[in-house]
Amino acid sequence: MTSAEIVVDLGAIRHNVRTLLAHTETSVMAVVKADGYGHGMVEVARAAREAGASWLGVATLPEAVALRDAGDEGRLLCWLSTPSDSFDEVLARDVDVSAYDIPTLERIQAAAERTGTTPRLHLKVDTGLSRGGAMPADWHALFTRVKAGHDAGMWRFTGIFSHFATSEEPDNPSNDAQEKVFREALDLLAEVGLQPEVRHLANSAAAVTRPSARFDLVRCGIATYGLDPAPGVDHGLDLRPALSLQAELAMVKELEAGAAVSYGGRWVAPHATVVGLVPAGYAEGIPRASAGSAEVLVAGARRPMRGSVCMDQFVVELGVECRDLKPGEPVLLLGPGTQGEPTAQDWADASGTIHYEIVTRLGGRLTRRYVDSNTDSGTGTGEN
Ligand SMILES: *Cc1c(COP(=O)(O)O)cnc(C)c1O
Repeated sequence: MTSAEIVVDLGAIRHNVRTLLAHTETSVMAVVKADGYGHGMVEVARAAREAGASWLGVATLPEAVALRDAGDEGRLLCWLSTPSDSFDEVLARDVDVSAYDIPTLERIQAAAERTGTTPRLHLKVDTGLSRGGAMPADWHALFTRVKAGHDAGMWRFTGIFSHFATSEEPDNPSNDAQEKVFREALDLLAEVGLQPEVRHLANSAAAVTRPSARFDLVRCGIATYGLDPAPGVDHGLDLRPALSLQAELAMVKELEAGAAVSYGGRWVAPHATVVGLVPAGYAEGIPRASAGSAEVLVAGARRPMRGSVCMDQFVVELGVECRDLKPGEPVLLLGPGTQGEPTAQDWADASGTIHYEIVTRLGGRLTRRYVDSNTDSGTGTGEN
C-alpha cells in the first residue's frame, strides 16, 4: 500500500448492480459521473457492464468521451452541456445526447452535419426539481421540433427522462407530484407522435423504493457504489459499500496534559496521551468540518480525530495504551463498516454533509487500488 490510498472492491460494484437488476426487474443505467463518485469512472464502468448494466450515465460530454476512449461500447447517455461544449466528439462516438431546449437541439444538429452522424437524442423534462430540463410550458414546442427532426432523419429520438428532488424521502408528496407531471410529458409525447425507446425517472432511491417510477430504466449512482440510497428507509436491499480509505501512521508521539494539538490549538490534551499522525488532509477530501467528531480505526478500535484537519494530515488520539504503536501502523479511515471502521455515512454525519459528497470528494494525492472480493485477488492496477 501507499501512505494513503483508496481501495475499491469491484466485486462489490458487480454485486450491487446485480442486486439492483434483481430487485427492480428493470434495466439499469449505472451512473459513473464525477469519476465514478470518487471510485474511478472507467473501472467502475467496466465492472457495472460485466454485471449487466445495459446503460451507463454521465453528466458531461468529456466524461462520455473518456469512457468511449477507454473502450466502452454500450449505450451511454450524457445529460449536461453548455453552449461552449462541442457535441462533435460525443456524436462521433455514438453517445446518446440530451437536450433541454431548442438552442441545444440546434447545436446538436450542427454537430451532426459536421460529423455526418445521426445523433441519438434524449429529452430531459423538468417535473419539479427546477434544475435542468425543459419546463412544461416549453414542452409542446420542443417536442414538435424533435418530431420534425426525427421524421427528417436529422436525429433519432431515443428517450425522455426527468429527475426527482426528494426520492430519499419516499413519503414526500413531491415524489407523487413529479411522477404525475412526468406522465403528462409522456402523454404529450404520444400526442405529438414521438415514441421513446426508454422512459426513465428514477435515481437509486426511487429505483429501490418506488416501483411505479421505474418505467424502462433506472439510473443508479449511489446504490451502484453500495451506499444506502435512502438512509433510514427499510428497503431490505443487501448493498455492499465498495470503497475503503486506508493509510499508515506517519508518526506516533506522547503528549503531556495541556498540549494544544494542530492549527489553532483547538484541542488541548486534558491528560497525558499518545497521538498518531495520519497522512491525509483536506487536500485529499478529508472534511475540515469533521474535526471534533470524526473517528478512524487503529489497532482494533475507533479513535478520535483531534484538532484541526490540515491540508496534508490530521492527528488521531491513540491513547496511552497505544504507546508502543509504530509509524506504519495501518489506519482504516472509512469503509463498509465490517471491521468496525467508520462508514461514509459516519463521516457525513461528522461533517454535516451526505455520503455522496464524502466519497466523491476523495482525491488529491490519494492513490487508488482495485481489488475483487469475488476472486480475492488485488489487481494492483489503476493507480492514479
Ligand atoms: C447523479 C444523477 C443520478 C444518480 O443519482 P443517485 O441518487 O446517485 O442514484 C441520476 N440521474 C441524474 C440526472 C443525475 O444527475
